[in-house]
Amino acid sequence: MTSRRASASRLWLHKHVRVLFTVCPWGNYHWFWHRLCYCGLGVNGREEPFSLGGGYLCVAAMVPALCLDLDGTIRYSKDGEFINKPGDVALFDGVEEQIWRYRDDGYLVLGITNQGGVAYGFKTPLDHNAEMEAMIALFKRGSPFHFIQACFFHEEGTVEPYNHRSLLRKPNIGMLAVCEVEARKAGYIIDWDKSVFVGDRPEDEQCAMNAGIEFQWAREFFCRQ
Ligand SMILES: [Mg+2]
Repeated sequence: MTSRRASASRLWLHKHVRVLFTVCPWGNYHWFWHRLCYCGLGVNGREEPFSLGGGYLCVAAMVPALCLDLDGTIRYSKDGEFINKPGDVALFDGVEEQIWRYRDDGYLVLGITNQGGVAYGFKTPLDHNAEMEAMIALFKRGSPFHFIQACFFHEEGTVEPYNHRSLLRKPNIGMLAVCEVEARKAGYIIDWDKSVFVGDRPEDEQCAMNAGIEFQWAREFFCRQ
């Protein structure tokens, strides 16, 4: 009986109380939280279900985030309007230096990208993965990203299971919410009031407005002509 009660207590503690100690202060440790994460929950190889909820005792650092759209904001296609293969990927001039400036200042650097081409069958999640790897390889100092979230869904798409409306797709704030959860798991609370969203399209601006985050146009943020 005692053993059963002790076991139940351990289970309760495990389930309801998790103390997240961050052993390294942000910026003083080469802690690399770079993951490429795709939004097809349950079909994309994600191993862990979301586990946040009431009852978590969290000792975490509060940090601002630099939220970056990718296509047309930090990267472009060398061969056409859209990136269709890894060899198409190019970074705009000055992007690496500016992003690393923010990262060195203690910002979480997040990639927030609609990739509806997957829902239309123009590319697969694996193609997208290869394009991301190609993009990251272009950063001479290494990837500045802590986390990249892509949305493959589009309600007018033709490819299962991505051909439906998703709250992850910008201008909805779903991908930002995923980033908040993932940051929390890693011991960080995103300070949205001090964060900035950079993009090149109206849906980026609307996403930032919906989330109550400062928005800057890519051309101005990266001082492009
Ligand atoms: Mg864009």
